[in-house]
Amino acid sequence: MRDLDRLLDEAARMIRKARSVVALTGAGISVESGIPAFRGTQGLWEKYDPMEFAHIDALRAHPERVWRMLLELYTVVEAARPNAAHISLAQMEKMGHMRAIITQNIDHLHQEAGSQNVIEFHGSGHRMACLSCGQKIPRHQVDLGQIPPRCLCGGILKPDVVFFGEPIPWRALIQAQEESKHCNVMMVIGTSAVVAPACDMPRIAKEKGARIIEVNTEETQLTVSVTDLLLKGSSGEILPRLVERLQATR
Ligand code: ZN
Repeated sequence: MRDLDRLLDEAARMIRKARSVVALTGAGISVESGIPAFRGTQGLWEKYDPMEFAHIDALRAHPERVWRMLLELYTVVEAARPNAAHISLAQMEKMGHMRAIITQNIDHLHQEAGSQNVIEFHGSGHRMACLSCGQKIPRHQVDLGQIPPRCLCGGILKPDVVFFGEPIPWRALIQAQEESKHCNVMMVIGTSAVVAPACDMPRIAKEKGARIIEVNTEETQLTVSVTDLLLKGSSGEILPRLVERLQATR
């Protein structure tokens, strides 16, 4: 039997046995939906210096310039559809094998795939927030024909995502920590989890005795530190095969 098949069987066994499975997802899961990773070659940050475009101070100082970049980002994100990996995780939730997804992504693709319990670490592009009054407004109610878009109060709107220089939403952070503490299996998918505080979640889970299943195209820092089982490959390929195994009777 091929090595990956054996590892997939093993992963399915671990998931079946677990009381609580939690997933931590990152940019890698959305690459197959056509959203380039921000970091790395061909990432958006190759083209735009994040300190110049994704820092909250930059948005305050040059809202129009930053919004031109954001419009480009919105065009990409709003054209994207969930891929097989997002759909597989939603299926796992329906089957009772996925308690929560902690995501670093702001693309809303987990929800579009049907996942109900999604903790968004970095906020959501699906909402806007006013820099002046703090009001949150659904994206579809905001006209992006004129930039920067403005709130009724006159303040500048920003996507309700975490910019550099801004804290992680505390509610999401606390929920993520709780899920990490109490899961038996954590699946780390499409992320090398190098950025705090996402990087803490696999370690919290591991310290509390959870097994860590990693799904990544390459080995990462996690592979040599906390990972129990690496399923090497694209998540759009790996996760449907895992779901097949979970669906099969034992
Ligand atoms: Zn306002």
